[in-house]
Amino acid sequence: MREFEKANVELRERLPPVVAMLIVPEAEQCYRWRVQLDCGCINEVITRGKECLPSERQWRGPECEWLQRGQVLCVHGDAPPARYQNIVEWGERRERTFPADPVEPRGGVDPRTWALIRHGEPHTRAFWKVTLACGHVTDVIAPELSWKPEDGPRLCRAERVEEMTKEFEEYWASNPTGQDHREHMRRMLSQGWPSPEPECLCYTCPYVRWIVAYQRVGWLIPRTAEPKRQSQIPPPRAVLERRIRQAEAEATRLRDQLADLDRGTRTDG
Ligand SMILES: [Zn+2]
Ligand SMILES: [Zn+2]
Repeated sequence: MREFEKANVELRERLPPVVAMLIVPEAEQCYRWRVQLDCGCINEVITRGKECLPSERQWRGPECEWLQRGQVLCVHGDAPPARYQNIVEWGERRERTFPADPVEPRGGVDPRTWALIRHGEPHTRAFWKVTLACGHVTDVIAPELSWKPEDGPRLCRAERVEEMTKEFEEYWASNPTGQDHREHMRRMLSQGWPSPEPECLCYTCPYVRWIVAYQRVGWLIPRTAEPKRQSQIPPPRAVLERRIRQAEAEATRLRDQLADLDRGTRTDG
């Protein structure tokens, strides 16, 4: 209950009140499930009511965006590195003001570099919510406060791009350990060093997992008051029919997954 209430308080703070009313469930409606994921982890999830199977519904990602049906997030230290995805949609804009930076260098930066990058005055930045090609959502900082997506990215002078390309290629040739983001940098250089960049790292993709099995745990608030007689009455026809439909849909989904797996194995071989 404590974990559930803490998560709900956080969710309510992040959402507009009307949306929160619709998507944050009351404890009395919550049903607990144990789910096994394709990473091997066994986690607990909550659905609204006991009829909705965890693998059938859609769960949300870190920015409240919908994941694919049957996917959930599972954060791991051993997850693959984040990869670049193209921005396919520009969403809402918001501004954030930061206080002036301290005079003393922060984060282990050397004093000369700090003097160059330090903001002596409070400063405001515009953040845009963007949707990536993978369907996940992240934030992008605009080059200037007045910038709008219709303006397109700001480009760098061609001569400067040429110089930078030379400098980067020399650096990569002589630093075998400094190859991080090399292909991304090459793409940006070939496009004239655009700002904002048309692609960004997706930190959600590495943590998205499939639910492969689930088990009922029970109501979040145990129901003790149900009369005994009721449990002996068979469920109504509509409920049985719905359960059969759910079981059949689940079997179809598992067969599809198995077929995908077989196809994958053949292609790899
Ligand atoms: Zn996991
Ligand atoms: Zn993604």
